[in-house]
Amino acid sequence: MADLQWYYPKTIDEAFDILAQDRAIIHGGGTFILKGAIDRAKSIIDLQNLPLKYFTIAKDSLEIGASNTFAEIIDSLADIYPDHILVQSLTSAASTPLRNRITVGGSVCAFPSWSDILGPLIALDSDVELATISGKKTANIIDYVKTRELHRGTIILGVKIPDNSWKSFYFSAKRTNFDLSAFNITILWKNDGDIIDDIRIVTVGNTTRYIRLSDIEDKISGHLLDDIDINDAISNIDIKFANKNLGSGEYLRELFDVEIKNALKFISSRTD
Ligand SMILES: Cc1cc2nc3c(=O)[nH]c(=O)nc-3n(C[C@H](O)[C@H](O)[C@H](O)COP(=O)(O)OP(=O)(O)OC[C@H]3O[C@@H](n4cnc5c(N)ncnc54)[C@H](O)[C@@H]3O)c2cc1C
Repeated sequence: MADLQWYYPKTIDEAFDILAQDRAIIHGGGTFILKGAIDRAKSIIDLQNLPLKYFTIAKDSLEIGASNTFAEIIDSLADIYPDHILVQSLTSAASTPLRNRITVGGSVCAFPSWSDILGPLIALDSDVELATISGKKTANIIDYVKTRELHRGTIILGVKIPDNSWKSFYFSAKRTNFDLSAFNITILWKNDGDIIDDIRIVTVGNTTRYIRLSDIEDKISGHLLDDIDINDAISNIDIKFANKNLGSGEYLRELFDVEIKNALKFISSRTD
């Protein structure tokens, strides 16, 4: 700890030179770097001087640099897409001081079970832009999350979101506004009148960390929500929760069923 050296590289090459050193760790917002990791580290690579604050809004896509904080994303999106899933989810994350620190890159790398950004990024079918020692690489967010090798020796440059035209719903199960969510539900959908053309439902915080509810998506897509037997569809969802501060695993499953039903009622009210 006494020898801890902070570095502020200005280029990715410089960052990789430092990363190659023994016991170097990357620092985004720093909110997930625990004392143990600091004690073991010899150097810290702070990313703030790298050009990773970009935020590009195109007609059909969004590109968000890894160093954008939750607060900066909300600010950049809220005027143009006030109902965007990221505006909804990140507004409900943590507290104001924390939203001013937590970055996209750190959140995607760490993926805590209470993450308010991963569910939306998975539902949006985002890509993660990575720098590796041998050049740039793009990985789908699911591949990044599942593949440890993509975490080793890489720097997240940003995320790319392919489509801004989804309607969205977000629910976070927690005791107070700034509590960590026990689980959260992201729903994106497109409808043509009463018919749901396409729907994506992702929950984060269950025992498998996240789950995409493909079975229920398939039952709903191409149909009127009113024609679906929601109780039957929900009872067949294979999802479990561990005991958390909000309640037991059984209680969280009950709550999940109730909140999925509420969410679908909300969507139904938006498609009339
Ligand atoms: C009290 C508290 C409450 C919180 N509440 C919420 C909440 O409600 N919702 C929510 O979504 N989050 C919440 N968080 C944030 C969450 O728990 C993580 O701490 C956060 O997502 C990590 O982001 P960071 O930018 O601080 O990453 P850091 O702590 O800087 O880094 C996290 C990890 O990612 C690595 N890393 C960082 N940036 C990069 C990069 N660009 N490329 C490669 N690796 C990188 C680091 O080396 C480290 O291993 C909370 C945090 C705290 C402390």
